[in-house]
Amino acid sequence: MTKKRIPIRTLDDQTINKIAAGEVVERPASALKELLENSADGGARRIEVFIEEGGRKLLKVRDDGAGIPEEELLLALSRHATSKLSSISDLQSIETFGFRGEALSSIGAVSRLTLSSTTPGALKGAEIASVGGALGEVRPQSPIEGTTVVVEDLFFNVPARQKFLKSQGAETAAIKKTVKAFALAHPEIQIQLTIDGKLVYNFPACDFVTRAHQVLELRANQTIHIKKRLEDCELEAVLSRPELSQSTQQNLWLLVQGRPVQDRSISHAIVEGYRHVLMEHQFPQGVLSLRVSPETIDVNVHPAKTQVKFVNPQSVFRFVHVSINEALEKELGSKKQNISQGAESFFEQPTLMSENRVQYAVKQFNLEQMSPMSSNANQDVSPWFEPKKESSQNVGAWESLQVIGQVANTYIVTQSPKALVLVDQHAAHERVMFERLMRDFKNSRVDSQVALLAETLELGEEASENLCEDEASALLQRLGFEIIRRGPSAIAVVSRPTLLQDMGLGPMLSRVSEQISDGRGAQELNKVVGDIVATMACHGAIRAGKVLSPEEMASLLKQMDEFAFSSFCPHGRPVSVSLSLHDLEKLFKRIV
Ligand code: ADP
Ligand code: MG
Repeated sequence: MTKKRIPIRTLDDQTINKIAAGEVVERPASALKELLENSADGGARRIEVFIEEGGRKLLKVRDDGAGIPEEELLLALSRHATSKLSSISDLQSIETFGFRGEALSSIGAVSRLTLSSTTPGALKGAEIASVGGALGEVRPQSPIEGTTVVVEDLFFNVPARQKFLKSQGAETAAIKKTVKAFALAHPEIQIQLTIDGKLVYNFPACDFVTRAHQVLELRANQTIHIKKRLEDCELEAVLSRPELSQSTQQNLWLLVQGRPVQDRSISHAIVEGYRHVLMEHQFPQGVLSLRVSPETIDVNVHPAKTQVKFVNPQSVFRFVHVSINEALEKELGSKKQNISQGAESFFEQPTLMSENRVQYAVKQFNLEQMSPMSSNANQDVSPWFEPKKESSQNVGAWESLQVIGQVANTYIVTQSPKALVLVDQHAAHERVMFERLMRDFKNSRVDSQVALLAETLELGEEASENLCEDEASALLQRLGFEIIRRGPSAIAVVSRPTLLQDMGLGPMLSRVSEQISDGRGAQELNKVVGDIVATMACHGAIRAGKVLSPEEMASLLKQMDEFAFSSFCPHGRPVSVSLSLHDLEKLFKRIV
């Protein structure tokens, strides 16, 4: 049998373009992204986008930018033709958007594309068409300043691609996302999106913060604005207050060097910034924009440039998470200052009282379980109970609430002159304990008590080992524990934090041992201090279901005034829920 050989040949341009299109043009939304970037590069002040059938039938982008002169139209549709890059040294420049010079040619290779353009002041325009990559003649057009790209029947000649497209709804959703991301990156450009003849977005030109609120669909009192700079690293963000978190990252946007990107580690750093005020698996809504010096970043790791690589990722992430953390602390902390001045208005905060909070409150409000103020309440005196001191000069917001009673032995029912306020006794006490322990830990003075008889606990070999190892032992000592080894699988607790008197420590210390292994895995035990303290607070806090005396309830409220952040427990659950009188009137249909 003779071996048959097919000779080597170079591929023709049309085929090359089709292959390239696979990289850049994955779906209508990715084609749109390229067209929008071209318009921005061309200096557009206003962009209109029209789509039909999820962008498969029609994708049209019209801008009022600098346009393309007639003699360059053919070049614009040729592969590797660009006006934005002339030498390899420009590759470092990331201020300009597209520069591979293949977006238009690639899109043209897999659709019926018409490019028409008029440069400013020109008396006539011109247009050129590409049908599956076959270029037509340059023809005159009526002068409409700027550039219009019409893309019809995307992938008509690549059936394999068509098959990979999702439903029209899904492609439309991806397009909306692309427009929103672009809108966040370019507040200075007016952008409109029309879907099947209906105008769905119209974002007027404005500044970053205003645009952020429009795109995120959040009001200014629902967000915090952060602006920070550290050496060459600049951060600006508009992020939702913790109570507006969501279980997905859908409304959390990232910009690096002014372009929309996806980066799991940055999102992670943002969530870290919210640590202890967000529930697990919850994400804030918002947009975060980072600018770093160009040498410290590679933006070309992906053809669509939606991913980036930092030379020194750790320091960038730390910058993000610390900036957010500080801003939140300041913001939620200063709320606390405000409350002493006007407790009434604080408990009327619209953000604490969003629609679904009403639902939540109503669900919890089970009248049958409502007990009158418990009179049999002088039972055991809890260690956390702090009797009222004589000279209470300044009454805080929480303290100023009038206690009405306890529901289900779990929620403290109180009122302010303008609202009904329910406080989750466990969450509230947990928060107070967390703050107190953290503060004392930072000042190295956690109050500790030596036991008369050291308690021995069988925790198993691994946990015992974990808790008694040098570094862990030193850390636990700062947290008020002295723990020694008692045989292969047991430990003895010689002293413990005063806040944790009178409770079994077994389950808590098992959990702490796990957290210590986590911290060791990350090479940084200090990082898990917050987690350990959260565990201590959770186990040490008064339980739901415990009957509280009026004095104990009042004492808890007073302790809550000591700290900022008191409106969320360390796991991020709300500490309190309030219904303003206005809400009550609405619920009872006194007003509509
Ligand atoms: P690149 O953007 O990487 O240069 P493209 O294929 O996307 O490559 O575009 C090719 C060239 O066409 C650009 O360099 C630019 O000169 C021109 N061009 C494309 N779209 C526009 C537009 N909307 N306004 C002005 N010029 C444009
Ligand atoms: Mg381009």
